[in-house]
Amino acid sequence: MSIAKKIEESIAKSSWIRRMFEDGIRLKEQYGSENVFDFTLGNPFPEPPEKLHVLIQKEIIDNKPGMHGYMPNAGYVETRQALAAHLSDVYGVPLTSSHIVMTCGAGGALNVILKTLLDPQDEVIAPVPFFVEYQAYTENHGGVFKSVASESHFALNLPALEQAITPKTKAVLINSPNNPSGKVYERETIDALATLLKARSTAYGRPIYLISDEPYRDIVYDGTEVPSILAAYPDSLVATSFSKTLSIPGERIGYIAASPGLADGTIALEGLVLSNRILGYVNAPALMQRIIPALLGVTVDIDIYKRKRDLLCDGLAAIGYEFTKPMGAFYLFPESPLEDEVAFVRALQAKNILTVPGRGFGAPGFFRIAYCVADETIMNAMPGFEEVFKKAKAGRL
Ligand code: PLP
Repeated sequence: MSIAKKIEESIAKSSWIRRMFEDGIRLKEQYGSENVFDFTLGNPFPEPPEKLHVLIQKEIIDNKPGMHGYMPNAGYVETRQALAAHLSDVYGVPLTSSHIVMTCGAGGALNVILKTLLDPQDEVIAPVPFFVEYQAYTENHGGVFKSVASESHFALNLPALEQAITPKTKAVLINSPNNPSGKVYERETIDALATLLKARSTAYGRPIYLISDEPYRDIVYDGTEVPSILAAYPDSLVATSFSKTLSIPGERIGYIAASPGLADGTIALEGLVLSNRILGYVNAPALMQRIIPALLGVTVDIDIYKRKRDLLCDGLAAIGYEFTKPMGAFYLFPESPLEDEVAFVRALQAKNILTVPGRGFGAPGFFRIAYCVADETIMNAMPGFEEVFKKAKAGRL
């Protein structure tokens, strides 16, 4: 079989996360899973809320005629109406069902948005560190992915972003709370970004869109606020899902919330719905759409993740690791004590501790620890984290 060169190259480069995950499977077979500390995947830890199971069972028992049939490509009207009412409060803008498109997860939402916006060679800019799939998603739709460096502690570097914007820039893509850093952009940052994008949009005579990827919006700690981009900037779109907040990534249910202020609003919304269809998603999973209205505002217990964050941060800080404490999501992105973080990650792996090198996220010199794991995994990995850290500092790696 002769497959596309692009895919052949991508397989060869293969995502670091997948590579480490697959190494982990081998190690678990060899040493037993209790002796392997796998921090590679962002698979949510707690099981979904009990209410989800009750609602699914009810739907199955009720067995309403037509419940498995096609529907409008944007999703059930009742689901979108319920979401619009809920999100109008969350985002502080008046949303109607027409601003909501139900999607196959946040990944589906991003692909639908990029398919709708991008002409060939249009640029999408994202700050470092970024979610590993952004480049592939952009290239899926003929776009060119550009990343810009951030300031220390992962703060948005607005001058660098401004410099990166060109007449080909179609969108800026942010992710807050961030995977892999746990950074949440403050309100002043979002307002300053909006001011910058408005000025550049006016200068070019066409909008530069702001896309916010927000599957971790409800997983925040210590009272952190996640500001609304829909309230800050008219040409904005939120891509998100229930994958992380309800622990259901396998169910592939998410949505796009489009700003009521979008330029060419109606045509843009029609474009999103058409893209959902012609990308082959057709519509988001029906069963999940039927139960979501009863789950709005419900999340898994966020304190579980806070406890894990604190356990990990306290343990690593005591050893001497340097990092910015995450404000949200369930990842820690420490600095590697070795300049070559791949070598450091390999040394951790030799102690059966699996993490992911930062270069996959555009940030060499860092590595990612996904702490959506059992508390014991965090505690039992500490001696290994300490041994490898000390060896690295002593120049013995
Ligand atoms: N965006 C970010 C930042 C993520 O971390 C993930 C999944 O880990 C996704 C998007 C994809 O989410 P979903 O499973 O809802 O498609």
